[in-house]
Amino acid sequence: MPKPRVIYWFRTDLRLHDSPALNVALNLHPDCLYPVWTWDPHYVYRARVGSNRWQYLLECQADLSKSITELNPQSKLLLIREAPQTVFPKLFKAWKITHLVFEKDTDAYARERDGEVVKLAEEAGVKVLIKCGRTLYDPDLLVQANNGKPTMSISQVQAAAKKLGPVPRPIPAPTSLPSPGDTSLPFSQSKPAPSPDLNSNHRSTTDESYANLAGPNNDFAIPTLHELGINEATTPHHGGETLALQQLDKILTNKTYTATFEKPKTAPTDFEPQATTLLSPHLHFGSLSVRQFYWGVQDTIAVYHGTPSTPPTSLIGQLLFRDMYFGAQASLGHAFSHTHNNPQCRFIPWHLPSTISPATNRPTDTYTIDSPQAEEWFSRWRDGRTGFPFVDALMRQLRTEGWIHHLGRHLLACFLTRGGCYISWERGAAVFEEFLLDHEVACNAGNWQWLSCTAFYSQYYRCYSPVAFGRKWDREGRFVKRYVPELEAYGEKFIYEPWKAPRADQRKWKCLVGGDGMSIEENGVKVYPKPMFDFGERRDVCLKGMKKAYEVGLYGDDERVLDGRWREL
Ligand code: FAD
Repeated sequence: MPKPRVIYWFRTDLRLHDSPALNVALNLHPDCLYPVWTWDPHYVYRARVGSNRWQYLLECQADLSKSITELNPQSKLLLIREAPQTVFPKLFKAWKITHLVFEKDTDAYARERDGEVVKLAEEAGVKVLIKCGRTLYDPDLLVQANNGKPTMSISQVQAAAKKLGPVPRPIPAPTSLPSPGDTSLPFSQSKPAPSPDLNSNHRSTTDESYANLAGPNNDFAIPTLHELGINEATTPHHGGETLALQQLDKILTNKTYTATFEKPKTAPTDFEPQATTLLSPHLHFGSLSVRQFYWGVQDTIAVYHGTPSTPPTSLIGQLLFRDMYFGAQASLGHAFSHTHNNPQCRFIPWHLPSTISPATNRPTDTYTIDSPQAEEWFSRWRDGRTGFPFVDALMRQLRTEGWIHHLGRHLLACFLTRGGCYISWERGAAVFEEFLLDHEVACNAGNWQWLSCTAFYSQYYRCYSPVAFGRKWDREGRFVKRYVPELEAYGEKFIYEPWKAPRADQRKWKCLVGGDGMSIEENGVKVYPKPMFDFGERRDVCLKGMKKAYEVGLYGDDERVLDGRWREL
């Protein structure tokens, strides 16, 4: 029997340690192993990916490639610039591949893509091996153990997990790797490299024009941001398995922190260092194995002398939340990311008035989907110029650094939806998708549903105040001053409500409050926007709207929602 010739397809698992799928590939004892990354046009051209996440991805790829070469100087990550659906049949033939191995991905888009690839492999006589390693539990098995239903609460995850048994222990990283064979691409054609559009975060090229399959130098190199036509990144956070493992080690070394972590007690206003682990981008790119993280925490707890924290607030609890969203998405597919057709997501007529006039059966205000006022609120929220310093600081942190604390995300999401603007969670999720380093379809959509009280959580009357919430964590406003430096000179009394400061003080502190945040500073006097609305008034309007929507009780898959009859209710 000839020895296997394997393509190992890296996607959600940019690491060598604890990779169950890579382990499967190595257990085949292949003659040659091609470590491949295919440049999926879905992500390159269609998904919203800001420059910070691009840089993080390229860093993960570079680190992985270096580690592969350390284990085998003949090998490295082979970055191929074409869609897997079109390039694999050619690679199977050119490289005489017998096996394709990859980590299971239950994202709705990925399932479709992988289904197509599996079919193509079968047609080419290539055996496909798929192994789960992205979550603690295989999301499909988790759903099965939850009686076939989407996992919508942490207790459901815990009950289902019990049936599935303990999370497997991590597998050590390989100590050697087989070489790839001949990597020439007889079918590859040189095409002109794209001209970069440095003013845009999005690709300026079309799928068609995107260079040579193995890169401009035909060497499977990892591209630079410049080559991709993407703006320079601004994040201080960096990617790669090496950094991920160092960061995890540092956390686990602090045994008390690890064993007694309680999420609600961590401050969203802490920076350098932040209060939580900041491991989410590493988990997203798979540069850190979630099982390695899980067992690191469990082993620390096992030898800890004090009383450890427990789920849902503990670190293990946080990882279970992650699995919960993956399970919900695995079960609901594409519908999970939207309200439309989603049987678990409450329908809220966002943007629409909370009251209908009994006389006319029409909205009592003009708050419609096209309301210019709501549009203005949305863009001011997105740009970090709402006039509420804590909201703006968080949004600016997100835009420049790509990561914000969980409770900061809570405030931003609540403010945009049920606790201020009454704008759909889907629009907020799209903004987070662009800017988050850790953007995960399942976790982003799921958490937005939680915060907007459309699924997972229903206490819509519990609302975050953009003033009191920040003050609770950081009276002096150190966090606000870091990200909204124009308010640097404002003291404790006015830092969360600068509009209340007397005009003379505003002048003295060299920052006047007024306008919509588009004004330009003059003579060294800066301008910070006035709040875009009276928060108390807006909270009442939103509460009434939510109460009504809950009474009507429609879900995204209700016929009356799908055919627009909800307007008559
Ligand atoms: P830690 O508190 O240190 O937790 C450890 C790990 O547990 C995290 O790295 C993460 O993988 C997981 N985790 C913790 N909380 C959650 C949670 N609520 N949901 C899912 N996983 C969790 N997380 C993402 O990974 N990707 C997203 O796209 C994402 N979008 C979000 C959008 C909104 C509106 C909100 C409110 C939360 C979102 N989260 C998302 C969840 C959470 O905010 C981040 O996982 C967390 O803040 C990451 O920081 P950390 O690594 O320091 O977390």
